[in-house]
Amino acid sequence: MTCREAIELMLDYLDAALSPPSVEELERHFAACAPCRAYLATYKKTKALAAEANRVEMPDEMKRRLRRFLLEQLRNTT
Ligand SMILES: [Zn+2]
Repeated sequence: MTCREAIELMLDYLDAALSPPSVEELERHFAACAPCRAYLATYKKTKALAAEANRVEMPDEMKRRLRRFLLEQLRNTT
């Protein structure tokens, strides 16, 4: 799995919307990849903040913006 793929799957992972094999693959990637662990932490924090602010699921627009932001970070570091 590439970092890009990991980022694409991350939100579904946090929503527990991934199939078990994908979860396993993603967790293997996290175990080997410090940047993606950092991205996951960012996602979790943002999701928690959004939940606090809205008391609802993270809006799709915010998910899209966050994913784009992380992919840009990734491009800048590799
Ligand atoms: Zn990675």
